[in-house]
Amino acid sequence: MEPFYLPTAEMLTLKGSAQQVWHDQAADLRSKQFGRQVFVRAVVEVSNFCRENCHYCGMRRDNRTLDRFRARLEGLQELLVDKRPASVTDVNIQAGEDPVAVREVVLPLVRTLRQETPLGISICLGTLSASVYSELQDAGAAIYIIKFELADAIRYAELQGPGSLVERIDHIHLLANMGWKVSSGFIAGLPAQGAKELLANLALARTLPLDGCSVSPFIPGEETPLASSETANIDLTLNCMAAMRLMRPDWVIPAVSALHLAEPGAGYRRGLRAGANLVTINLTPPNIRQDYVLYKRDRFIMTEERILSAIAAEGLSPSEQSLVGFYRQKESHRTVPVEQRIESPAM
Ligand code: SF4
Repeated sequence: MEPFYLPTAEMLTLKGSAQQVWHDQAADLRSKQFGRQVFVRAVVEVSNFCRENCHYCGMRRDNRTLDRFRARLEGLQELLVDKRPASVTDVNIQAGEDPVAVREVVLPLVRTLRQETPLGISICLGTLSASVYSELQDAGAAIYIIKFELADAIRYAELQGPGSLVERIDHIHLLANMGWKVSSGFIAGLPAQGAKELLANLALARTLPLDGCSVSPFIPGEETPLASSETANIDLTLNCMAAMRLMRPDWVIPAVSALHLAEPGAGYRRGLRAGANLVTINLTPPNIRQDYVLYKRDRFIMTEERILSAIAAEGLSPSEQSLVGFYRQKESHRTVPVEQRIESPAM
């Protein structure tokens, strides 16, 4: 087994032409591993109720200025079964930590999608019980997105991250042991966070049983204790993405929409140039999405048009295979003996 690529603090602070060369290496590795195709997933944000109180998030429970909503199940079913864009192969159902929404909206939605569409289904619902993870899996979801946010347990507690860092990591292991494909992630550029802390985030990610991982630039959220802090340095964020790709060529790494907020106009495409291979179209119904406020009410929505034009501009194209289909294929290759693989007729 090859040793893991280990980024250094100097790498995370690269800029200019040296940074360009390094990001090109990450993008080349992405293309070698996955081709020029990127996975296209839709996200629907189904509830902005949240029992947690993270300092870095506008949906924290202490934000009393927010109109809280749960999306209507029927509207989401109609949207995703009959009206989704043709490029979408997967959907991510996302919410604050809201067990009511899990029962009333997410579980029936997953069942409908499993029965009526070929969509791969990811969910991002926070820390739940093992029995609820099982119900979601039985209903047809396959990928669980659960970010560890930052590797420093003391700082995690100060920022009131969900539960505790230890619990979060335990749940990542639990989900992976249950057969979920797990994607995690962390925030880059939180106040008082530099290259040393980001290396610790990368080091933690490397030890976890993950199939994908994200890096989100810190964006100071309205009505949060960090509202007056500075937005993350985009170069630091992109360097973490490149380091992650070089560290784990096989991981699915998204270009997150917050890259656009950290560097309007260019940040998102630079993410694709630093090795990302997953993009997300926001399909949350317009009447509710202004209240799904991770950062600011005035949201920049990643529409199908914006996403497709960004990937085309980078010489990439949408994958026809779903992300879940890709993981299944990878799994079957792992379990089929090599001789048999060679002899199998092409499908
Ligand atoms: S980051 Fe997630 S868990 Fe934390 S307040 Fe926001 S929605 Fe809730």
